[in-house]
Amino acid sequence: MDQLRIGETTATWLRGGNTNLDGGAMFGVVPKALWSRKYEHNEQNQIPLRTDPILLQTKHGNMLIDSGIGKGKMTDKMKRNQGVTEETAVEESLAALGLTAADIHYVLMTHLHFDHASGLTKDEDGELVPAFPSAAILVSQTEWEEMQQPNIRSRNTYWRENWEPVQHMVQTFAEEITVAEGIRMVHTGGHSDGHAVVIVEDGGEVLLHMGDILPTHAHQNVLWVMAYDDYPMTSISQKQKWIGYGIERNAWFTFYHDHYYRAIKWDREGQIQEAIKRG
Ligand SMILES: [Zn+2]
Repeated sequence: MDQLRIGETTATWLRGGNTNLDGGAMFGVVPKALWSRKYEHNEQNQIPLRTDPILLQTKHGNMLIDSGIGKGKMTDKMKRNQGVTEETAVEESLAALGLTAADIHYVLMTHLHFDHASGLTKDEDGELVPAFPSAAILVSQTEWEEMQQPNIRSRNTYWRENWEPVQHMVQTFAEEITVAEGIRMVHTGGHSDGHAVVIVEDGGEVLLHMGDILPTHAHQNVLWVMAYDDYPMTSISQKQKWIGYGIERNAWFTFYHDHYYRAIKWDREGQIQEAIKRG
């Protein structure tokens, strides 16, 4: 498994499944002639994407950033539409680290779209139960409210089966929450109205997880936002703010969806200075 050390914190990418989505949808208004130089596509114009949660082993407990695409949640037709060829195997990844799902103390949800939230619940004898039974699930209040009352566009991605079984475990925040010393979530909006980023500071080092406002390394240009984003101008201004914040602090930028890179450090010119490739 791919790992990154930030001070005394270890970040590990777990097997959360995958999707293969239309490159045009993933790069919004960017012409294919440009995005196709940065990210490979197949003959159907699909690009390979991961849905891999990041485990943070910290001195304040074990935390997960997002939960994977889940297992047994999708019909064959849905899997075909989303290009899902692999489902979540987070429990197996945790077992390889000597952990179980009950050892996760917090799940930090950037947002609750199905490709991030389906791993929150699992099927047990035909009943959906919490996948991380001891965890507090942290999410912005805006995101939590929209999930329960989605609009005509967002109802496709906010699934009742992903929130009902875990609602007693959810803790919401308005603009910002300090999970533990050095670990924060900050509301950004953009991709979804309630989207949030995660910042980990430990031993003078910084990990910045920008969720779906920076889904892959190829979305580094602040204007390259997904057609999936509900509020693209907000994504652009939040990308300016947070990419600047990260570069200023020589942060590791980490990715949930990137098929090629787990984490990257960019210099002030936007060149890669250090990278962790997907193993
Ligand atoms: Zn996503």
